[in-house]
Amino acid sequence: MRFPFKLTANLTRYIMNKKMSGAGKFPLVLMLEPLHACNLTCTGCGRIREYKSTISEMISVEQCVAAAEECGAPVVSVCGGEPLIYPEIDHLVRELLDRGRHIYLCTNGMFVRKRLHEFKPTSSFFWNIHLDGLERTHDLCVERDGVFREAVEGIKAAKAAGFLVCSNTTIYKETDVHEIAELFEFLAGLGVDGYMVSPAYSYASVQTREIFMSREEIREKFRLACALIEKYNLMMSPIYMEYLRGERELMCTAWGNPTYNPRGWKGPCYLMTDAHHASFKDFVEKTPWDSYGRGRDPRCEDCMVHVGFEPSAVLGAHRKLGDNWKMLKWQLSGQMGGGKARKNGSNGRANGHGNGNGHSSGHTGTHQPSDPKPAYQNGAFNIL
Ligand code: SF4
Repeated sequence: MRFPFKLTANLTRYIMNKKMSGAGKFPLVLMLEPLHACNLTCTGCGRIREYKSTISEMISVEQCVAAAEECGAPVVSVCGGEPLIYPEIDHLVRELLDRGRHIYLCTNGMFVRKRLHEFKPTSSFFWNIHLDGLERTHDLCVERDGVFREAVEGIKAAKAAGFLVCSNTTIYKETDVHEIAELFEFLAGLGVDGYMVSPAYSYASVQTREIFMSREEIREKFRLACALIEKYNLMMSPIYMEYLRGERELMCTAWGNPTYNPRGWKGPCYLMTDAHHASFKDFVEKTPWDSYGRGRDPRCEDCMVHVGFEPSAVLGAHRKLGDNWKMLKWQLSGQMGGGKARKNGSNGRANGHGNGNGHSSGHTGTHQPSDPKPAYQNGAFNIL
């Protein structure tokens, strides 16, 4: 199986119930940001820049749980900021698990070893570690040496303790997809259970514009990437991958992955901010959905990110003949833990530290001096 059986079964039941009850817009994955503070200042991150003025704010566990219950999404992606500097992250995860939610804890991996003992392995909980390349590339992207190595140590510790672990990679204009294949080979050797990739989105708040791709560049990059990485347990649906390769069109369904953060429900989507709403109901009802998407809003023109289009694939927007079979086959054909990749030759040969020379063709400076360090780095969040 590509995902734990319980996750697949619960998600399928949830979607069927919603469709049978005639629900219109309903969420699949809640993007929950209990805080925006982070211990890193990654080059392509929009959050630490957009929310600079509220970077020290956090929402309580009770508010987080209330948001999860209000929207009802069966999957919660706990992100931020860096969720492992949220003091009560263990409490939050327990509360969400108690309510039957499936959790992806999205982290840069720096504090996994430190906080691992606060969590218990279960098939409803994934560590989701962000890695944008092998050691040199990744450390350039996150603007700090040693991050790749610590993240890898975190992965090893989590796997040794019996946790499910997946990785999450953003593909930029200069990303060398051969290096991403090498990264996945290395991670398969560590027993990583699944892999996510998504094209970068050009956040208005990120000044380093040249790292982002046009729609045609994304398609070209993913046509090559798919051929190299499809043997691994990819967690993106085949329909979304067809969209990324330019083989079909999808409409944005950003309401399928709503974002809740210290300022409220972020509209219209995880990437763009035109409003923050006090309730999920307001977010769904007051966001002018017909104004967004390609051909409607210039900011959406080159957007192909998973938060906008993976829900479209899973919910069957623009369904084609054979899509149901394709999705079923995809679910059943995957293999968590890297087994399939290993059978095809991966034995963890790559050490993750060798290549990764930054970027494929003469990395010349996407790694520019970032914005001034935010206030939280003065020690307010130095709780670990
Ligand atoms: S197309 Fe992308 S940027 Fe536009 S609303 Fe959808 S997810 Fe947001």
